Amino acid sequence: MASCFPPLIWLILSCAQGPQPLSDPTPQATLLERAEARAGEGHYADAATLYGRLARDHPDTPEGRTAARRSQSSAYLGSAAIVENGPGENRVDVALMGDGYQLREMRGFDKLAEDIPPLFERQATLREYYTYFNFRRLALVSADNGVDGFGREYDTALDGRTLGTYAGHVGVSAERVRAMLDEWGEHDSLAIVFVKQGVLGTGGGGFATIGGRNAKTTIHEWGHAFAELGDEYATKTHERGGVSRRVNVSDTDDPEEVPWAHWIKAGVRGIGVYEGASGQVRGAWKPTSGGCVMESGEFFCPPCREALVLRIYSIVDPIESCSPLPHPRRHAVQLVLDDPLEFEVEVMRPENHRLEVRWWVIPERGAPMEPEERLQRYRNRHTDRRGRGPLAMIPLDPAATSRGQRSGRHRFRLERGDLESGRYRVLCRARDRTLLRGERTPWVLEDPDDLLVSQRAWWVVVPEAR
Ligand SMILES: [Zn+2]
Repeated sequence: MASCFPPLIWLILSCAQGPQPLSDPTPQATLLERAEARAGEGHYADAATLYGRLARDHPDTPEGRTAARRSQSSAYLGSAAIVENGPGENRVDVALMGDGYQLREMRGFDKLAEDIPPLFERQATLREYYTYFNFRRLALVSADNGVDGFGREYDTALDGRTLGTYAGHVGVSAERVRAMLDEWGEHDSLAIVFVKQGVLGTGGGGFATIGGRNAKTTIHEWGHAFAELGDEYATKTHERGGVSRRVNVSDTDDPEEVPWAHWIKAGVRGIGVYEGASGQVRGAWKPTSGGCVMESGEFFCPPCREALVLRIYSIVDPIESCSPLPHPRRHAVQLVLDDPLEFEVEVMRPENHRLEVRWWVIPERGAPMEPEERLQRYRNRHTDRRGRGPLAMIPLDPAATSRGQRSGRHRFRLERGDLESGRYRVLCRARDRTLLRGERTPWVLEDPDDLLVSQRAWWVVVPEAR
């Protein structure tokens, strides 16, 4: 059968996201925006005045209620980006907060906050993934400059207090930290809090608390807060009520039972079972003889480093963006005349190694049928990627593999002539092999949820030639 029409390729995309409707802002919305902008610029007294006016003049509006909260003696005033390495939806967003900073001292906190990203940049593990992080300072005013404890109570933004450890480690109210993050907007529930009059630090559940301004403490507490790492030091700091197992702390010395058994099995040099961890000399074990940040060293040991990288990828998708762009469903079908189709993904860029990108063209019947709609939920949305789970095995060899693109952009061209008529899935997977040049062992040995891998897929229909 002959045809006067050129061959056609139908491209079907399955992503849904519509534009936001625009409307004129109300006077109270404008005022709120102005107050936030002043706080963002560091003019905290102005911001406080504007919030006070907004709360008084528009008490029965959502903005007025927000302003009333922000007009309290200890309150959130606004925020400003310190380091922005990319879109917040696909970065580890670290909020920096101060407790016990009165209005006139808040500039001092701003300076302290500026010093935190360079700490991350100097630490070897965090430096490799530095571009995966954004840092933002939250401006919190406290009525008092003090820390609760020893029978005294102060009115501060995060309720900083002295805990019952021997040395009086500092802690804050997790509920208050969360409330301040919610004032900011969409967040990853991660914060580093500096308590002006506190000592030492504590960390867990996403929040690190630092007394004063101690660089070494900051990275150690971040290890607790971000990746739930345990203490590898043996010095007793407080009554812990038993050893809690962490990726780097064990309550048994059985090399097959310790949480880092896969590192021992792989025969990685320097990894074993060493007694003395979790604040006790006996009955708790760690993976190396010493020197991890979680003890008091400069470098994270391999099991800690693995946990940090996996945690980063529980938030950051290895694929930053893709083209063709996701369309609303109503634009799902695109007609392309006789031209090759070009697909592009942009992947994340660690400091010293590159992600690997592979492409497949899979006939419909042979395609892994993981629906794109399900995978889409775990992309760039402040969702925990661990919920996605492992990706389906692809029983075919890739059509192309690319590596070492400095720009992070990888392209794949599909020609009409390549394909029989029928429906295909073009599938792209990017993977961080975590293998750095000159190193024999990847930073991540076990990744049961495929966090280091991301996928994009498109449907292509090649019509029957007539
Ligand atoms: Zn460690």
